[in-house]
Amino acid sequence: MTHKQVYDVVIIGGGPAGLATAYLCHKHDLSYLVLESGKAVFQGIANTYPQGKLVYASKPKDAPEPFLVDELRPPDKPVTVESYLQYVQHFVQHEKLEVHTEVAFEDVRDERDQLVVITDKGQFKARKVVLAFGSSIPRELSVYGDAKMVAKNLEDPGKYVGVRTLVIGGGNTAADVVIAILKAKREVNDTQPVYWAHQSEKFDVNTETARRLGEEILLGGNIRLLPGATPRIGEVDDEGVDRLVIRINEFKQMDGIEVYHAMSFPMKHVIACIGSQGPVPIFDKLGIQTISCTAGVCKVAREGDRLVLLSSGFESTRKGVYVVGGAISPSYMKICEGSIQEEKHPNLIYTAVNDAYRVVEEIKDKLGK
Ligand SMILES: Cc1cc2nc3c(=O)[nH]c(=O)nc-3n(C[C@H](O)[C@H](O)[C@H](O)COP(=O)(O)OP(=O)(O)OC[C@H]3O[C@@H](n4cnc5c(N)ncnc54)[C@H](O)[C@@H]3O)c2cc1C
Repeated sequence: MTHKQVYDVVIIGGGPAGLATAYLCHKHDLSYLVLESGKAVFQGIANTYPQGKLVYASKPKDAPEPFLVDELRPPDKPVTVESYLQYVQHFVQHEKLEVHTEVAFEDVRDERDQLVVITDKGQFKARKVVLAFGSSIPRELSVYGDAKMVAKNLEDPGKYVGVRTLVIGGGNTAADVVIAILKAKREVNDTQPVYWAHQSEKFDVNTETARRLGEEILLGGNIRLLPGATPRIGEVDDEGVDRLVIRINEFKQMDGIEVYHAMSFPMKHVIACIGSQGPVPIFDKLGIQTISCTAGVCKVAREGDRLVLLSSGFESTRKGVYVVGGAISPSYMKICEGSIQEEKHPNLIYTAVNDAYRVVEEIKDKLGK
């Protein structure tokens, strides 16, 4: 479906950078729309901050400016992430900011004098596109067929009560998801197990997480470990249910035939916590130029890191496409008066919000508003 309206600005990501951009567009009468893949705004923060974490209004030491969008500044006396999120929700409602949630950005296409933003829920037209999707993009399961229905984080452990659940991933995040589901099941005497699968033979969690997991098991948590298990196929069964097939062991015979055991779970009972990646693969897909750091040239980035190339107004090498916030941290390549230099860009709410201010000033100018 293609939406008819042509927005001045379509913003990808409803985190601090995206919402600050939206708020400034709103204040300056630019038509805009935020597309956020999560269930709510600030999903990136909700997914990555530990429960009860305090949010600091941190500012880099050498930064001369205040928060240029004061409305999104965390309070000086730090509050928990939960209350900051609640405050932001109210702010979005109060200002009636235009946000579409559960819409995942996929691509941008040029069409005459406008850009077409392609998402999993249709296409949106824009004069300018601001990419504010943060620094950590969840990895996709690489299986034959499609595994898009597999959850990448735990929204409500209660959803898995009464069903056999599969958690994939070998680190602390996966362990935390396993613990939360075991606890939810235990509290209502649900004996259906949680299967915990990891590609490698060894799980890798820190002592504190291991302690909490151990406690949950001793209190009656029903867990089945599947080390050395590999997700293989996404398929639809006879009843139309999307399922994920995971091999739990395999034997390669001399005659070249493989014998294996596999388990098949409805995808809606699977959560894959397989880490995240930086935004470089997305820049590649969009044809946005990046520059590889060579030894001695970069101060922040390491040799081989690829930094996105941006104008001083955060425009990428794709005309009309801007990149702000965590997506360009910890540093990017800035084109400045004919030369290119590495620019530090600390991954902070402050930086994200102040980028938004600059980008909207630039877009206002370019659109003659
Ligand atoms: C554990 C932790 C603690 C931190 N504590 C602090 C602190 O105390 N103070 C501070 O200033 N900073 C802190 N930071 C850093 C701060 O959270 C980031 O700098 C800030 O969130 C960056 O904002 P952003 O809008 O660029 O990205 P994000 O906050 O990551 O927002 C990006 C949004 O885009 C969405 N998105 C991603 N991909 C797509 C897609 N394809 N389509 C649509 N939407 C998409 C995401 O769901 C997300 O909501 C912390 C970071 C972490 C991980």
